[in-house]
Amino acid sequence: MKVKIKPGWDVEVIRTLREKFPDVAIMADANSAYRLEDINLLKQLDEFDLMMIEQPLASDDIIDHARLQKELNTPICLDESIHSLEDARKAVELGSTEIINIKIGRVGGLTEAKKIHDYCSQNHIPVWCGGMLESGIGRAHNIALTTLSNFTLPGDTAGSNRYWEKDVILPEVVAENGHIEVPKSVGIGYEVDREAIEAFTVEKKHYR
Ligand SMILES: [Mg+2]
Repeated sequence: MKVKIKPGWDVEVIRTLREKFPDVAIMADANSAYRLEDINLLKQLDEFDLMMIEQPLASDDIIDHARLQKELNTPICLDESIHSLEDARKAVELGSTEIINIKIGRVGGLTEAKKIHDYCSQNHIPVWCGGMLESGIGRAHNIALTTLSNFTLPGDTAGSNRYWEKDVILPEVVAENGHIEVPKSVGIGYEVDREAIEAFTVEKKHYR
């Protein structure tokens, strides 16, 4: 269960969820809503046995994340802070993060995503794959990426129908009880539905 938190919508919300769902894995995503001076508030979240607190502080602030992580028992997961393998290395070496959310688009593609995965694997930092409202084509890449061995935490990738009335791949991605079956075919594992893309196209330009 993933919950977005922000000042005024945090400790009591998580407490209520934890009381209602004592055994469910819960992660809280702050999207940079806090500052280091909120440390005592964030420490209150330790009692709820969260899987992680994602990106509590600003995206360019890996130093304060390191100070915060030293004070928290709950693992910090960096999301918006990580744009490259270099960012990952610095954050891990500083102790700013114990988990990394890898988004293919955010880190600049599959090659960098795999490099971050491999680095994290060698440094015992588990990773998971966040979603960015991809169409089926991006979704297919997420599914393929998350078959790598260090993607040990549940990802954000949902079925096509979670976001789209009609997706642009065939077959659509189907999630059942939170699981997606990895396709066995080559390439991205799905067919691009060119008719659907044509139907959704609003403008075309040719460049020579
Ligand atoms: Mg996030």
